[in-house]
Amino acid sequence: MARVVLQGVSRFFSDEAAAVRQIDLEVRDREFLVLVGPSGCGKSTTLRMIAGLEEPDEGEIYIGDRAVSGVPPKDRDVAMVFQNYALYPHMNVYQNMAFGLQLRYGSGLLRRLFWRLVRPAWAAELSRRQEMIDRRVRETAKSLGLDGLLERMPADLSGGERQRVALGRAIVREPAVFLFDEPLSNLDAKLRVEMRREIKQLHRRLQTTMVYVTHDQVEAMTLGERVAVMQDGQLQQVATPLELYRRPLNRFVAGFLGSPPMNFVEGELIETDGSFVFRSEGFTTPVDRMVVERVKPYAGRRLTLGVRPEHLRLVRPLVPTQEGVCPANVDAVEPLGDAVVVHLSVGAESRQAGAKVGLIAKGPADVPVRIGEPCGIAIESRDVHFFDPQSGKNVSLPGSV
Ligand code: ATP
Repeated sequence: MARVVLQGVSRFFSDEAAAVRQIDLEVRDREFLVLVGPSGCGKSTTLRMIAGLEEPDEGEIYIGDRAVSGVPPKDRDVAMVFQNYALYPHMNVYQNMAFGLQLRYGSGLLRRLFWRLVRPAWAAELSRRQEMIDRRVRETAKSLGLDGLLERMPADLSGGERQRVALGRAIVREPAVFLFDEPLSNLDAKLRVEMRREIKQLHRRLQTTMVYVTHDQVEAMTLGERVAVMQDGQLQQVATPLELYRRPLNRFVAGFLGSPPMNFVEGELIETDGSFVFRSEGFTTPVDRMVVERVKPYAGRRLTLGVRPEHLRLVRPLVPTQEGVCPANVDAVEPLGDAVVVHLSVGAESRQAGAKVGLIAKGPADVPVRIGEPCGIAIESRDVHFFDPQSGKNVSLPGSV
């Protein structure tokens, strides 16, 4: 068991930009932490530095209590599972799973016979190790449903089976830390869901520290006990999935997690007679009184409103004078089966071409909306976030100003 700590870790591949910049991160002992972010944000480089496949240019990495700079991958007590499985094509499933242990503890039959003649006690130890390898491989294969496939070659396995062998090969080594680099990307959607469940169960069973890299927000949210969101080589926020979803620290995190993504609307904070409203070109909405204190400094200035599609309520039929309801026009409807996604243009002018504010709403599947129809949209002020237009910081969170 081990925690993993990154302190001020950076990696530069060229003089211009850092692939990873000043990362401070603690993965707790036995934790399942997911590193997520768009392509090229530095997730794999971070994982590879923990594995020892890359060395940091700055900072230090600790596994357990040991600083591991300069320690080769094989001595770091980590096991890595890759997207492309990296199985040995000329070895069967059993041999693939046993290979790492054979290198470390194993010995061939001839060598054991030799030691039996020269040093019987050592020969007995070698036999014991050989049995341990065999037992571990067979037990692990059984737990992964691979026990009937031990003689098969990788070419004769399905993608899901290959990924299970790759997992099995990591498990038999009983490492202190598992590192996963997009291990499910090559699988179809159904198999991905199945393997996600298996990896989660595996974590519960083994109680080992796991660091998992993905660009898929659903994978991140469903697997991670905590999720670390990266952008341009930097950590943006590390928190539980729900915390990230409900209290994103900045516009990037808010927009990255959630599907369809959060709506962002540029506007101005207006104060009249002590009460505050947010006014955009499409609509005006009151500011929740819990948030007013935090956003007050923006009175008379630009501000970005963020609201998730599921927090926009479609109101039909539209009654033009209804309080708190903005007129909108339905531009597109995407039925998902269990829900419906509706693209809207919002504002008094919304029925005319060129209306400025487009919003996406997500509602129950049975909401009867049709393209071209006018309707209303209600925004719950307590579900709204406000972001500084320059820094992107979420200024509506407690303690944000
Ligand atoms: P992806 O999801 O596409 O794998 P990532 O978030 O894992 O992306 P990295 O692979 O860590 O990103 O790459 C981060 C940045 O570092 C990218 O701009 C990439 O082009 C660059 N990079 C990675 N490895 C090297 C290398 N060996 N030499 C030069 N640049 C590299």
